[in-house]
Amino acid sequence: MPSSYFASRKESRHDFLVREVRELSPRLASHLPDVELVEEVHAASNYSYHIKEFTGKGYLCVGDSHRFIDPIFSFGVHVSFAEARMVSEAIARYLNGDGRDAVNPFAAYQRRSELGQGVVQSLIDAFWNRPLAFGFFVHVRYVEDCIDMFAGRIYEEEPSPGLVAMRKLLEKAPEDMSAFQSSLGKSLLCLQEGLKLLYLGATSFGIRYSDLEQAKAFAYDTRSWNVFFAKLAERYEKLAEEALDARQTQSAIAWLEDSVNYYYFSQVFLTGDQKAAYQACSRRAYAQLAPLLNPPCRRVMMPFMDTHLPGYLRVGKSGAPCVLLVGPGSDPTSKEVVLHRLAEVFLKRGMSVAYFDGPGTGRTDRYPADERR
Ligand SMILES: Cc1cc2nc3c(=O)[nH]c(=O)nc-3n(C[C@H](O)[C@H](O)[C@H](O)COP(=O)(O)OP(=O)(O)OC[C@H]3O[C@@H](n4cnc5c(N)ncnc54)[C@H](O)[C@@H]3O)c2cc1C
Repeated sequence: MPSSYFASRKESRHDFLVREVRELSPRLASHLPDVELVEEVHAASNYSYHIKEFTGKGYLCVGDSHRFIDPIFSFGVHVSFAEARMVSEAIARYLNGDGRDAVNPFAAYQRRSELGQGVVQSLIDAFWNRPLAFGFFVHVRYVEDCIDMFAGRIYEEEPSPGLVAMRKLLEKAPEDMSAFQSSLGKSLLCLQEGLKLLYLGATSFGIRYSDLEQAKAFAYDTRSWNVFFAKLAERYEKLAEEALDARQTQSAIAWLEDSVNYYYFSQVFLTGDQKAAYQACSRRAYAQLAPLLNPPCRRVMMPFMDTHLPGYLRVGKSGAPCVLLVGPGSDPTSKEVVLHRLAEVFLKRGMSVAYFDGPGTGRTDRYPADERR
């Protein structure tokens, strides 16, 4: 219960609890009209505790008896059982004569227990104190690492990249965080505004509305937007591979089209190497898609001045008029890939299509010499 909420009600603890419980479940309250509390209502601001030295000659503690962090992630029973197992082994070793002369025969158990509980502590601290970043890490950035930790794999000697990132975030001083959060808030607002405009373009290129909505919920800056769509693109590319293995060509085409589009949208806000990398992925997916298409899609290099323009040719019917589609805009993107959907419109109407990246607008200027042949 947030303390600000309790303060805002201006009630005694007793009245607060009785009213809250009644409002929480009116149905239950109707069965219990005259509740009488058997003792005074107590409040605890934080009921976690941590005893640092909990083993020694002749004694050791397990579970809640030395540390309690927070019930919210439900680690308590798992930790108690894991520690009970470690302790049973440690006691058996001691009874067999191991560590009899050590100052603390159970020091190794104590260290391991602290290692695991430390992971739980970091998770819970990040959850409460850095909720936005926590959500992003769990759902987008470090999904596998977070699944591992939530599944109870918390006794690893080497911290995972997800755990390291969470701890780094927690190390930031509060004043750093307020600057960080205010810039986060601003970029979030800009992003939300920008996203509204993007929706229109994105859906026309085949990005699903449900994916856009998810991206909006998780993305807190432009980078998280890119990562979100790139992960989806990767997943669709894998699904296409599986469909190809199973000789399901239509499904493979559909997944590859998704992959092309999603990689393309991953680079929308980017500049530099990462942008080029996602564009390359989009083109790679398109190169896989092209041979599967009907009518066939042939890669062509059109001579233009001292260079060649990369593009594709698709002949609908022989003798059909051929529409030339040239990639517009000055943003250096993989235009010949983007033009695919437009090409489909003309092909469906019986025309042939040649589409390519216009001179000076895309990768034409930077096209490697050995690929021009
Ligand atoms: C509100 C709340 C919700 C929680 N929700 C979850 C959850 O959803 N999932 C989860 O995994 N964990 C949850 N936990 C944590 C979990 O309950 C504990 O971490 C776990 O039960 C600890 O096990 P333990 O064996 O160390 O201690 P305990 O379960 O407390 O066992 C200690 C036992 O020792 C007994 N005892 C104490 N003193 C003596 C004595 N002198 N002589 C004899 N017996 C004694 C006690 O009566 C008790 O039965 C929650 C905890 C709380 C407070």
